Amino acid sequence: MSPSSASPLVTCATCRACCCQLEVILMGDDSVPRHLTHEDEWGGEVMRRLDDGWCVALDRDTMLCTIYERRPDVCREYEMGGLACIEERAHLDRPPAQPLRGPL
Ligand code: SF4
Ligand code: SF4
Repeated sequence: MSPSSASPLVTCATCRACCCQLEVILMGDDSVPRHLTHEDEWGGEVMRRLDDGWCVALDRDTMLCTIYERRPDVCREYEMGGLACIEERAHLDRPPAQPLRGPL
């Protein structure tokens, strides 16, 4: 299937911001407010994520980016309807992860 024939159902409005749970590595030109970032274990600067797994900059009520005009390059280049997007959206159809259980 060519990109131009991608399903019209692939829109961010039909997605729970799946891609905003991914690691977002910041690049040199990014100007994200520092309090929304942190240093990963390799010394790189990344978007901070909260305990629910989503990026700290995501509005949990609207599921929209609160720093859209200043969002990192990685987010700008993430193609809606692209392979990575389709892969992440596949998680929508999966049941939520079950909590790990210890021995009974
Ligand atoms: S995974 Fe795709 S459809 Fe969902 S929010 Fe990201 S770009 Fe939009
Ligand atoms: S900066 Fe915005 S677009 Fe990028 S992951 Fe965070 S909420 Fe999503």
